[in-house]
Amino acid sequence: MRCFECGGEVIQTLGSVRMTKKDGSLIIFKGIALSQCRQCGEQYIPGKWAEKIGELMRKEDTLVPREIISVPVIALG
Ligand SMILES: [Zn+2]
Repeated sequence: MRCFECGGEVIQTLGSVRMTKKDGSLIIFKGIALSQCRQCGEQYIPGKWAEKIGELMRKEDTLVPREIISVPVIALG
């Protein structure tokens, strides 16, 4: 496989994928098996991962704002 951007060699690697949410916060998915160009660093994410990440991103959106868990404070004395 050749890079669509620069025509360089694309290798299989484990990398991290950064996604920016609508609110501007960053999510990093680590250990994703993807293809990456050795020359320009362009990442090619396999369809199954792209789908999975898309799914997670949608879930993340629905989770915001997160529930706040209150920890009971034990009064001493
Ligand atoms: Zn490239």
